[in-house]
Order: sequence, then structure tokens, then C-alpha cells
Amino acid sequence: MITFNRAPYIPKAQEYVADVIKSSEIAGDGKYTKLCSEWMENKFSAKKVLLTTSCTAALEMAAILLDIQPGDEVIMPSYTFVSTANAFAMYGAKTVFVDIRPDTMNIDEKLIEAAITEKTKAIVVVHYAGVACEMDVINNISHKYNIPIIEDAAQGVMATYKDQSLGTIGDLGCYSFHETKNYVMGEGGALVINNEQYLERAEIIREKGTNRARFFRGEVDKYSWVDVGSSFLPSEINAALLYGQLECAEKINDDRLKSYQFYYEHLKDLEAEHCLELAYVPDYCKHNAHMFYVKLKDLEQRERFIRYMREKGAYCVFHYVPLHSSEAGIKYGYFSGTDNYTTTESNRLVRLPMYYGLSKEDKETIIQAIEKFLN
Ligand SMILES: *Cc1c(COP(=O)(O)O)cnc(C)c1O
Repeated sequence: MITFNRAPYIPKAQEYVADVIKSSEIAGDGKYTKLCSEWMENKFSAKKVLLTTSCTAALEMAAILLDIQPGDEVIMPSYTFVSTANAFAMYGAKTVFVDIRPDTMNIDEKLIEAAITEKTKAIVVVHYAGVACEMDVINNISHKYNIPIIEDAAQGVMATYKDQSLGTIGDLGCYSFHETKNYVMGEGGALVINNEQYLERAEIIREKGTNRARFFRGEVDKYSWVDVGSSFLPSEINAALLYGQLECAEKINDDRLKSYQFYYEHLKDLEAEHCLELAYVPDYCKHNAHMFYVKLKDLEQRERFIRYMREKGAYCVFHYVPLHSSEAGIKYGYFSGTDNYTTTESNRLVRLPMYYGLSKEDKETIIQAIEKFLN
């Protein structure tokens, strides 16, 4: 059976994890956490990167940093993972869902302005599949109304928009290193701080509301409880696992892009014959092959496709019940404007197996099965 996903296995990462266990310095913010943060700060030209226990945790930190209060509104797409909304709903915000563009599945930047009210506290963009949202337009809206931008760049590590790394464009960026993402800690993530005004408080929130980070830098002579916060920092074991992968991030990225290109080359004729649709990537966006999806006619054909592929030995999956039509989404949010694409496009989309080290034979098996299904 060809699995849908596999976490990258990097021997060096295993060595680093063993190194941590032997050293007995297993708690957070040790050697490997520092190495990961510095690596990302250099590679992505980011002001500050703080490792977290998940992208969900990074989004929750963003909600605390923006001082989200009951009654505030936060704009985001409905076509996203629950954490994008949940992190803000937890602090009492109403989630205002905006329709997506059918070509990239990202928030439609032309519809954001109409969703803004005096209560709008943030715009959360999601770079779906590692393909950037239209950030120039969204930045202009942010400046015009003085509303901060949070990037949910869970899927966008190592991808760029006009040569800027995703996660470093808005005020705050959130990465995921969950097992299903391109680089993994098991469970893990990072908060990227691009707007300096959030820096000091972010360190405090991440350390249970204490100024422990300043204490370790010798800036205060004892550390104490100074603000609200939680335990948002991951163990060194997780950081060591990640560092082994970051060291060969280009290699992992190239391998994924090669698989993406293989799928694309073998499916583009079927797209030209209108048998299916493929993703659109604007030429100023460099994606990271986080996923390869195809869009079929409708829900019924997609269900048949998933069943057929499973019979042929390949796990293909769909995702995201649009948040505005889910139980909590109805309770905590509303859809701004008309749902022209969110529901119809999400019903058609299916993801093909994609991971570091996916073999050529497996990809050929998948392509042959797709051709057979469609012909
Ligand atoms: C995976 C994902 C998350 C959640 O990441 P965790 O690290 O599992 O918390 C959030 N948003 C998007 C868009 C994701 O794909």
C-alpha cells in the first residue's frame, strides 16, 4: 500500500535526539532549540523565531499578543484547518469567513475589505499548499485600516512570495512541524515575530507568563510572574529531531518538488482535456510541494476516485469541511458575502500521496491508476 504521508527519516536527526537524551538536558530552550531558531532566522531573514509545541500554540500566542477580547472579529478563510479559527474563538473572537479563490484555494484578497468592521482585530491569511496569498494587496489593506496580519504558514515553510519567505511578511507568522508537514517534530511549530512590538511579550507568554528569557540573558536578576501565558515551548528532543531535517531542508524540498513535477508532467494533458484540474501557482510564488492535489468534477466523482485509488493500492485523502458549515463554525463565526467557491471547490479536491522519498515506481502506479480511472 502506498501511504499518503511519511515523516522524513534523517539518520543525523536520530543522532541529535540520542545526543539530547544522553545529555539529560531534555527540557526546552537548550542547544537544539537555539540551533533551530537561528537556522530559520538566517534562512528566512526573520527577526525572531520562537519554537512552539504546535502551529496551534503559535496561533494561540498570536491571539494573546493581539489582546483578542470577546466581541472582536477576525477575518480568515473558511477553507482551512480548525486551528486557524479555534485559536481566536478561544479568546472570544467572532471568526468572519471570507470566500476563497478557486485557482489557489487561498482567501480572495478582493473580498477582504468588505468584511472589515470597527470590530476587526486581525486578518489571518492561510498559504494553502505552500502557495502564497496575494500579500501585496493584503498588506495595503492592513496599512489602510491599521489591522495586523497573521500568517498561518503551517504549510508554507521554505516557500516564498516575491522572494520573501512565507511567515515573515505579516506581523506574526505561524509554522507547523506536525508529522504531516514538510519538516517534523512529531508535534511542534514556531511563531515568527516580524513586528518588534510583540517581541518581549511573546517570550513571556511562551514561558508561562514569566520573564525567564530575560533572566537567562542577564537582563533581570530574578525571574517572576509578570503576565499571562502558558507552556508553549517544546522539549529539546523535538527540537533535535527538527534540526536534523533543517540541516538538509534543501534536499527534502528538492525531492518533494521533483515528485510534484513528476505528477504535474504526467497529468497536464488530462487537464488540457478537461478531465481534471490542477493547482495554479503564480510565477512570483515559489511553493514547497507541501501537497499535490487534483480537482475532479464533484463530490460523487471524488468519492469514487478515493475508493478506486485505494483498490489500486494508494491512499488519497480529502480535507477541510468548510469551517462556516461545521458545528463550531456556526456557533463562533459567520460567512461574509456569498460562498461561491469554498464549498464547491473543497468538495472536488483530493490530495495524492506526497512525502520525502516517495519512489518513482509508486508515483508511476498512482499515475497509471488515475489515467485508468479517468479514461
Ligand atoms: C497543520 C495546520 C495547522 C495546525 O498545525 P499543528 O502544528 O498541528 O497545530 C494549522 N493551520 C494549517 C493551515 C495547517 O495546515
